[in-house]
Amino acid sequence: MNRPLRVAIVGAGPAGMYAAGHLLEGPGGTYLDGRLQRLSDRAIEVDVYERLATPWGLLRHSVTADQSDSDTHTVFEHIAARKGFRYFGNIEVGKHVQPQELATWYDAVIYAFGASNDSRLNVPGEDLPGSLSARVFVAWCSGHPAYRDAPIDLTQQRVVIVGNGNVAMDVARILTQPIDALDATDIAAHALDALRSSSVREVVLLGRRAPIHAAFNNPELEELGELEGVDIIVEKADLPNLHDAIAEGADTATLRKIATLQRYSNLKPRGHDRRIVLRFLTSPIELLGKNQVSGLRVSCNQLKHDEDGKWHTAATGKEIVIECGLVLRAIGYFGTPLAGVPFDEERGIIPNADGRVIKEGKPLVGTYATGWIKRGPRGILGTNKKCSRDTVRALLADAEAGLLPGETTLDGLHIEQILRTRQPALIDQLGWLRIDDIERQSGREPSKPRAKLTEIDALLHAAGLSS
Ligand code: NAP
Repeated sequence: MNRPLRVAIVGAGPAGMYAAGHLLEGPGGTYLDGRLQRLSDRAIEVDVYERLATPWGLLRHSVTADQSDSDTHTVFEHIAARKGFRYFGNIEVGKHVQPQELATWYDAVIYAFGASNDSRLNVPGEDLPGSLSARVFVAWCSGHPAYRDAPIDLTQQRVVIVGNGNVAMDVARILTQPIDALDATDIAAHALDALRSSSVREVVLLGRRAPIHAAFNNPELEELGELEGVDIIVEKADLPNLHDAIAEGADTATLRKIATLQRYSNLKPRGHDRRIVLRFLTSPIELLGKNQVSGLRVSCNQLKHDEDGKWHTAATGKEIVIECGLVLRAIGYFGTPLAGVPFDEERGIIPNADGRVIKEGKPLVGTYATGWIKRGPRGILGTNKKCSRDTVRALLADAEAGLLPGETTLDGLHIEQILRTRQPALIDQLGWLRIDDIERQSGREPSKPRAKLTEIDALLHAAGLSS
């Protein structure tokens, strides 16, 4: 076939953008088996659909970014500038266009819409005011337009964060970090104002298992110790002896974590007015309070060495109450189904084999998945690079083998006309570049990477559209 291969990508986050990058290869091709190789010789056109006005997904809407985060922005900007790339922002698949339509408009569709929901604790009191998911907190901080008015009450002195992953670490850091440091990031103005007058003095990080099982990474743990004006408290009794951990065959990363925690546990509190308490072997049982969270009842656990030779966590039977006014659960994200696309309710992902979407046990022709909706909410930003490369290789192999339908595809102009009729407020690449420029210009003072626009009207206006 002489015409270009046409691919739609749903979701302009890291997974979708890396997939676009692998399809629209840069000069020299893609890194594979340690060298640059071309994945395809065929011309390819890629349309990236994004529900939000702005692209980059969790790169924009995770924790606050400072100037050092600009490298990945630059990578995505270069991909978006390649021939064959189009951006359709403010277009919701499932609302403005249906998956069934995309399947006929394009040779292939890659779903890369991430995991927009969160796991729940399933304990009493979880829906009380003052109990929120860390995902909501992060979206609020990062200026996600749908979370501007999230009920984040920072008049509380103690906040408990449930979970021991990197999200928990990020949130603890934001809640305690000196305001000047936050001011130099792209944090949303409304969040910065609230944090400026925050009453939060203590953040308790709650891990249900032991430090050897903690999901956070070393850089995130070490960053806590560098926070100015914050005491880090770790109970010595919670820590395994380093020698025991070595005897148990802990890997180097775990040993480094334990060494850092031991160092923290030896620090004398310096009397700072903010502190982070890392508490292990503690599971939430119930959120207490009538009209507002007033505390968290937790069970104290212990490590048990079982017959299988592994360490397990078991309840000791002891329970305590931690008084607090805000509980943020940072216990993992969960995928949301999209009508018309297969979904595994249990795992919260699109069922797939190496990125090929599976329906009733068979590959669904021309349909692929990448990123968190493919493999679950795990991995750092860069994990998506290989994940998307694998999906793109599966897609290109199917194209090469003549397995894509392709005959009824629409040309690019026709697709754009349909979309603009259905959504006159479509934000294209030019519109995004206008938003980007305005945000960067207004961020220059005082040395912020950007001042994010967080209201849809302001974003449309900046893009050159009226709402
Ligand atoms: P995560 O890494 O999966 O951590 C979830 C934490 O919640 C674990 O400690 C888990 O404990 C705990 N948990 C789960 N269910 C629980 C329950 N019912 N009660 C108490 N604790 C419970 O999830 P995440 O922090 O949301 O991060 C998601 C992914 O994004 C991760 O791969 C992370 O590395 C990545 N991320 C990376 C960065 C970065 O690179 N800077 C920043 C943010 C996120 P168990 O281990 O006992 O299950």
